[in-house]
Amino acid sequence: MEEEQRPYDVIIIGGGPAGSSAAIYSARAGLKTLVIDRGPTSGALGSSHKIENYPGLDPMTGDEVLAKISSQAKGFGAEYIKDTVVGVTLKDETKSVFTNGGVYDTKAVIIASGSMGRKPTIKGEAELIGRGVSYCATCDAPFQKDNDVMVVGKPEQVLEELGSIARFAAKVYLISPNGKMDDEAIAMIKDLPNVEPMPGFRVSQIMGEGFISSVELNGPDALKKEVPVSGIFVYMQGNKPIVDFLQDQVETSSAGCIEVDAEMATNMPGVYAIGDVTCKRIRQVVLAASEGAIGALAAERYIRGKDKLRPQWS
Ligand SMILES: Cc1cc2nc3c(=O)[nH]c(=O)nc-3n(C[C@H](O)[C@H](O)[C@H](O)COP(=O)(O)OP(=O)(O)OC[C@H]3O[C@@H](n4cnc5c(N)ncnc54)[C@H](O)[C@@H]3O)c2cc1C
Repeated sequence: MEEEQRPYDVIIIGGGPAGSSAAIYSARAGLKTLVIDRGPTSGALGSSHKIENYPGLDPMTGDEVLAKISSQAKGFGAEYIKDTVVGVTLKDETKSVFTNGGVYDTKAVIIASGSMGRKPTIKGEAELIGRGVSYCATCDAPFQKDNDVMVVGKPEQVLEELGSIARFAAKVYLISPNGKMDDEAIAMIKDLPNVEPMPGFRVSQIMGEGFISSVELNGPDALKKEVPVSGIFVYMQGNKPIVDFLQDQVETSSAGCIEVDAEMATNMPGVYAIGDVTCKRIRQVVLAASEGAIGALAAERYIRGKDKLRPQWS
């Protein structure tokens, strides 16, 4: 069979650090590999202003890190197309991936679509993601050393993150998403002297040219207040894994993330999930990359095992 006509061995949905690392391992193992990505800058890494904790790399922007990983994958023969995956059929041995531009058949699928599925709801939020707007204390709190920042979230839900942010920042303004913060909630943060709770205030706009400079708040009695800050950590509905195109064909938790085993396998044979779309507490580039390696090697074992049983793929 001509190489072009042969179905793919592995299709990877999402070309972030998880998907592109999987592509390195899959293509290098000699598997015909396709990565479908709707646009790298819509992912978590692509929208990060600065990454300084990826081992072995000097500090650089997220899209520079991503360009390095994907160019390595392309060097091993992985194909990339820019398109959005809108549907899949996964239960048969030959699986299909549907995009706006076409249909692609494959033996195995690796889902690496990330968790940037929550639409920014605050005015100015979308424009300043990675430029002071953050969803991850582990990622960005060290960049805010001795700065004033704001955290939007319910005290009882953000305590751990608040602790990490307060260790670095000079001052942390804490705003509840619905403006409500009772005495019990305020008592929870009494051990963090540089955290100032602001009951009764809600965020109305994040402001800044190129980088965040202040946040506008709506307070009691229609009071408006502009607070100068160099960062805002937003914990509103948490991250939202991007799984809509799966149409419930793969098991997800009540939080919407994909459940996987230690090999990154989902409940569906030949279907793997890696990176931020899976259920986990810590979301970091280095973890996404390592899960890419595990998922691709597991997909390879699945394909080669099947090929041993039935040498002619048809
Ligand atoms: C602002 C910010 C700062 C961060 N800073 C750090 C940091 O300093 N250090 C660190 O280690 N981690 C950091 N992180 C976390 C890190 O970026 C993520 O853990 C990591 O990028 C997850 O990789 P991923 O490949 O799973 O997802 P993503 O990076 O989100 O990539 C997913 C890809 O899938 C694509 N996609 C989604 N849906 C579809 C679809 N339907 N069809 C086709 N393509 C699709 C997207 O376009 C995207 O390219 C940060 C995250 C954010 C948001």
